[in-house]
Amino acid sequence: MASVSGACGNCAFFDDHHGNNDQAASDGGLCRFNPPVSQPGPDAHGLWPVVSEKDWCGHFAPETMGGLAAAE
Ligand code: SF4
Repeated sequence: MASVSGACGNCAFFDDHHGNNDQAASDGGLCRFNPPVSQPGPDAHGLWPVVSEKDWCGHFAPETMGGLAAAE
């Protein structure tokens, strides 16, 4: 298991602003490493993977890398 410092909550790709249904879990957010997937239908939006702050993966990147800014 990754240490807290290498967890999603500290990753540059973690987005805690919105859930896929606009209701983020208390410790949840979206992983923005890859494009959205699993588009449910032709008129629906694709879904970003939901992760918790304590999740982790091998693509972790420290937030201090900079250069990433969320679109509004
Ligand atoms: S799943 Fe990986 S890339 Fe995505 S936020 Fe977590 S550590 Fe970062």
